[in-house]
Amino acid sequence: MRAVVYHGPKDVQIDDDRPKPRIEHSEDIILKITKTAICGSDLHLYHGNIKGMEPGQVLGHEFAGIVEQVGDRVEEVKQGDRVVVPFNINCGRCWYCRHGLWSQCDRSNPQGELGAVFGYGQNMGGYDGGQAEYVRVPYANTVPLKIPENLSEEQALFLSDVFCTGYFGADMANVQPGDDVAVFGAGPVGYFAVVSAFLRGAARVFAIDHWPARLDKAKKAGAEPINFDQEDPISKIKQETKCRGAICIDAVGYEAVGHHLHDNSANPAYIPQDSLQVINWIVQAAKKFTTVGIPGVYLTEYADFPLGQFFQRELQIKMGQCPVKKYNEQLLHLIEVGRVDPTQLISHRMKLDEAPKAYDMFDKKEDVTKVVMTP
Ligand SMILES: [Zn+2]
Ligand SMILES: [Zn+2]
Repeated sequence: MRAVVYHGPKDVQIDDDRPKPRIEHSEDIILKITKTAICGSDLHLYHGNIKGMEPGQVLGHEFAGIVEQVGDRVEEVKQGDRVVVPFNINCGRCWYCRHGLWSQCDRSNPQGELGAVFGYGQNMGGYDGGQAEYVRVPYANTVPLKIPENLSEEQALFLSDVFCTGYFGADMANVQPGDDVAVFGAGPVGYFAVVSAFLRGAARVFAIDHWPARLDKAKKAGAEPINFDQEDPISKIKQETKCRGAICIDAVGYEAVGHHLHDNSANPAYIPQDSLQVINWIVQAAKKFTTVGIPGVYLTEYADFPLGQFFQRELQIKMGQCPVKKYNEQLLHLIEVGRVDPTQLISHRMKLDEAPKAYDMFDKKEDVTKVVMTP
């Protein structure tokens, strides 16, 4: 089969003769992929930043498709069902899964204490990803979510990650009716954090980024764009909120603009190579005594973390990897009844064969907001 394979930093290739996955355990299914997306966190892999990602692994943790084959003990889905699959792999039976803490499954990752993720290297379980013609999905009585008749796989696709992860950001930040919210980063997760903040009753949502195409998508979702190349997001947010500040969501993580030498802001206030740029803005822009939601990925320790300011302004932090199953069914229903159309985010529809080009385009960002590929 054809698959998108990691060969090294900035080197993603199509392998034509990858063996088709087969049932390895009685609770496995083999899924024929019909839609798959590239995620911002695939770019962390693409940049060679993820430990345990070795050449030869199939990429991709955002995918939907048709069940082609089921193991002997699979009862919850059958051949021909269309499903969307969460990026985190959940056994359904360990202590964490039984308590709904899906992203910390104790059994799915034989390599360590973190829960497993599709297509994310040995440290995250070593499972092949879904940017391929087929993928093996384990624990199929727990993991896949059936797509209702009236929805396409493309409409349900972002329930694999970015819609749920954006909602998780708004949930962690405890967005309440009437809140003013600031979403830092208008990439796919930021976009859905904007959508989700409004679903939870936000009065106003500010979207902070510097890519016009991304700010434009956020604006279409109802946000007020702030381009940090043109204005200081902290004073803008303060000015618009009678100096109170906003409920803040960090949908960027450690690869903020300036983290890479090639990717600098025109804003002179921006400190190059400062991975904590977003946190340093948030600690000043956040409304006192609120919770900052951080669905953006952080990987290492930071000596200059502004802990004192967090204490003084009585800010809480909630962060981590979204437990997708906590949200995907409810969010699916919002799509089903037409309240949310996630396909609005898509800027590029491409063939799986074009994946190397798609990774390069998504990495450069520019006018790319989300790439969906069809095998
Ligand atoms: Zn993702
Ligand atoms: Zn588990």
